[in-house]
Amino acid sequence: MAFEGLGERLQQTLQKIKGKGKVTEADVKEMMREVRFALIEADVNLKVVKEFVKKVSERAVGSDVMESLTPGQQVVKIVRDELADLMGGEAESITFAKKPPTVIMMVGLQGAGKTTTTGKLANLIRKKYNRKPLLVAADVYRPAAIQQLETIGKQLGMPVFQLGTEANPVDIAKQAIEKAKEDHHDVVFIDTAGRLQIDEDLMQELRDIHDAVKPDEVYLVVDAMTGQVAANVAETFDQQVGVTGVVLTKLDGDTRGGAALSIRSVTGKPIKFAGMGEKLDAIEPFHPERMASRILGMGDVMSLIEKAQSNVDEQKAKELEQKFRDQSFTFDDFLEQLEQVKKMGPLDEILKMLPGAGKIKGIDNVKVDEKQMDRVEAVIKSMTTAEKSKPEIINSSRKKRIARGSGTSIQEVNRLLKQFDEMKKMMKQMSNMQQGKGKRKMKM
Ligand code: GDP
Repeated sequence: MAFEGLGERLQQTLQKIKGKGKVTEADVKEMMREVRFALIEADVNLKVVKEFVKKVSERAVGSDVMESLTPGQQVVKIVRDELADLMGGEAESITFAKKPPTVIMMVGLQGAGKTTTTGKLANLIRKKYNRKPLLVAADVYRPAAIQQLETIGKQLGMPVFQLGTEANPVDIAKQAIEKAKEDHHDVVFIDTAGRLQIDEDLMQELRDIHDAVKPDEVYLVVDAMTGQVAANVAETFDQQVGVTGVVLTKLDGDTRGGAALSIRSVTGKPIKFAGMGEKLDAIEPFHPERMASRILGMGDVMSLIEKAQSNVDEQKAKELEQKFRDQSFTFDDFLEQLEQVKKMGPLDEILKMLPGAGKIKGIDNVKVDEKQMDRVEAVIKSMTTAEKSKPEIINSSRKKRIARGSGTSIQEVNRLLKQFDEMKKMMKQMSNMQQGKGKRKMKM
């Protein structure tokens, strides 16, 4: 997960001060010395570290903190607020053009994840804002680049505009926008060329495309794993081309956080999205507040809820609740639930969003056994329709058949049947409790 190294250090430090009923200036000084080390180790830009430490220290020794009843907790809150502020305060949103199509230019160094991110963002925008994007392959230098975008387009069922490798990127961009108008695409993503390093030719080309198409957004894609170097890259791109937002990729592998914590302060430009994996749905809007809470082990319940909501169908959820109540929940429903959970992404990532998860010893090593889930699925899929809705008819010969059909064992089939039975009982109890609660409320 993102930031676990930094998170651990900061949490250890803050733990010492958190419960204190009295906090002295010396306590704050000592704490900030450790915070400073933690940030430097996380590869945060030195200037940013200094400013951060100064700001937090000033606020933490203020009379409102010292005289409060819970000064330790106040200090932790200040650290959290200032961390959020470093990353940009409020979450930012996309600027759509008043007159479509909205043109989004994707820029960045080679290997940062630009092409993948182009696909991810187009997918997100289609899903969240109900838009119809056109992808444009304007990287004519790297031979496989066009092909790569084509492949992503196919995976997403989204058209890709290209004119081969002989065409001029400015012409490609201009013609793509005409094409988008013709075909009623309301968002155009231009995947521009990258280089291994910043070079003048590339910057000139990006400026030319920019002048020709006047994009509504210029998103710079940078690799979080490169730490504060990412902030320097962002600064240069911003000076040379002008960027409106940053997409930080590979946050899933970044334990340190130096890029996330430096970019905003160094460039003044917001981080708008974070890439969290290689799959085309592994992207999230970047919420500084929530990230700060995640770093300090306060969990990120909001993102968890949103993740669940985007995968759950309201109507289905209501039907399911009814089924819990009248105990008509079947193995078919169970299977559907399993699939819903799987859609939310790797379970170990989800676990880590829970508050306090960081404190659970060894949580980083927790690997939810997804293979086990596949086996459970296989067992259910080997049942007949009758068996799925009335598991009590499953006798020993049926068990044998199910075990054989699913490539598992009779013990595994037994275990699942027992768990299912217990789950049903528990659901009944829970829904009774809920109903009871409801009634009490009504009387009041
Ligand atoms: P480009 O050269 O900037 O267009 O980079 P690509 O889109 O080809 O991506 C380079 C590599 O980074 C590919 O292997 C991607 O799968 C991988 N990648 C991109 N974004 C992420 C991310 O958010 N997390 C992880 N783990 N890998 C990513």
